[in-house]
Amino acid sequence: MAAATAARSVRRSATRLASSDVATFRSWLDGVDAVLLDCDGVIWRGTTPIPGALAAIDALRAAGKRVVFVSNNSTKSRATYVGKLKRVCGIESTVDDVMSSAFAAASLLASKKLAPAEGHDQVGVFVVGESGLHEELRAQGFRTIGQDEGGGKPFDFAGFDVASLDGGVRAVVQGFDTEFSYNKLALAASYIRYARAEYVATNTDETFPAHGFVVPGGGSMVAALRTGCGVEPEVAGKPSPRLMDLIAAHIGVPASRCAMVGDRLNTDIRFGNSTGAQTALVLTGVTTAAQAEASKGPERPDIVLDSIADVTALLAAASE
Ligand SMILES: [Mg+2]
Repeated sequence: MAAATAARSVRRSATRLASSDVATFRSWLDGVDAVLLDCDGVIWRGTTPIPGALAAIDALRAAGKRVVFVSNNSTKSRATYVGKLKRVCGIESTVDDVMSSAFAAASLLASKKLAPAEGHDQVGVFVVGESGLHEELRAQGFRTIGQDEGGGKPFDFAGFDVASLDGGVRAVVQGFDTEFSYNKLALAASYIRYARAEYVATNTDETFPAHGFVVPGGGSMVAALRTGCGVEPEVAGKPSPRLMDLIAAHIGVPASRCAMVGDRLNTDIRFGNSTGAQTALVLTGVTTAAQAEASKGPERPDIVLDSIADVTALLAAASE
């Protein structure tokens, strides 16, 4: 796509002249040292790469920008993300370039410095989530349980006793879980209500990007547990400002010198705007151009791009 039509500032008409678009893009990126990229709907959709994503990331890095991949998907560890970035898009990265909500949740829990329960060596965590979440929690010294509670295992109404709960559990961490079940829901609620476990959610995304059908996200499961236990979780991923604090400390760049690029208004754009970062919405994910135009307040992006691929042409034009 030519730079002439690549950038559409939502504060202007889409028919503004090309020179205005490039100038808008240049001023948006000026003073930015790090570009934080959401993954699903931005650089890939599921396991299909967004065309031009690799070239765009190469161009950002060539322009001296630190690129960080920031995903609310809690099912993968950072190490798994590094492999997927290479496999799906051909992007080279290290774990230090990846900030997943599973890592963020483990870091948030670690920051609480909980002491192990009496008679236990480690802080126990009941996990409603998949292997990547267990992996990140274990990497930060937690003992995790819950992986055997899904798979169609029924909740034992007749035999359940609060005394049967694991006495070492001090937290419940919840992410996306394709084995989410009534059994996991009842056990997690019991740990929160009766064992006074801390409640941390990786994210509250309602859906995943999908065309033609609906894929409920982790937020739908958080809604079930929040309702079931009557306690609000602390959210570790986007749009929580806690995640920006973690990223800023991790890469040594303050939020004011970061730009957040994403496809979702109520997570990516709200996250960037509420933490003082620049924001760009791409239209390759869950948000339509009409929704972008109608966006307001903290969910209104600074600029809108049809695709991350447009960054390549805009960077080239801006440097001429
Ligand atoms: Mg996304």
